Amino acid sequence: MNPNKPDDVHLHIDADGWCAQAQQLRSPNCDVRADGVAIDLLVIHNISLPPGQYGGPYIAQLFTNTLDCDAHPYFDQLRALRVSSHFVIRRDGSLQQFVSTLQRAWHAGVSQFGERQRCNDFSIGIELEGCDTEPFADAQYTRLCQLSRALQQAHPLLAVTGHEHIAPGRKTDPGACFDWLGYRTLWAADVPSSAHNALPPFVTVAQKTQP
Ligand SMILES: [Zn+2]
Repeated sequence: MNPNKPDDVHLHIDADGWCAQAQQLRSPNCDVRADGVAIDLLVIHNISLPPGQYGGPYIAQLFTNTLDCDAHPYFDQLRALRVSSHFVIRRDGSLQQFVSTLQRAWHAGVSQFGERQRCNDFSIGIELEGCDTEPFADAQYTRLCQLSRALQQAHPLLAVTGHEHIAPGRKTDPGACFDWLGYRTLWAADVPSSAHNALPPFVTVAQKTQP
């Protein structure tokens, strides 16, 4: 990643929780958040369908319940799955949004952050097209940072974490190839120096889970 790369794109999350600059592909796999719950956690994931293959329409189809599960042997196990994420960042950095940030997307599953369980209730999920064993693209970090800044403007983010950290033993994404330090450095690079402390902490240790 090149942290010196110019980054003058400012994304915006509107009052309805949608990013105008994202391709909107509305997923039915969402529901309302409980009244009064602060949306304060960012959860980073990776996904590729089939695993390790990029560029196809399958992630979007999975999240919109339009995936032909006969199209690839791997998809057979996805038949009963009803999942979504608020955002997907593809390898070229293009941004898709499936669920309003004001609604609950179904990305984290059984999970715990600190004392709080069911992270879907209070988090925003961002999927990077990728896998656990291959570096992510520079364009993805650039877009992720643009999106993170926009989300921080719209929601009182208290922390950023990975799916593997809130569901240890069950999930492994975004994995060891995800460059947490580079992400933080690039995010901070476009924030006025006086406001660096305003970046939410990155919590990249496995959270204790209740039995
Ligand atoms: Zn995940």
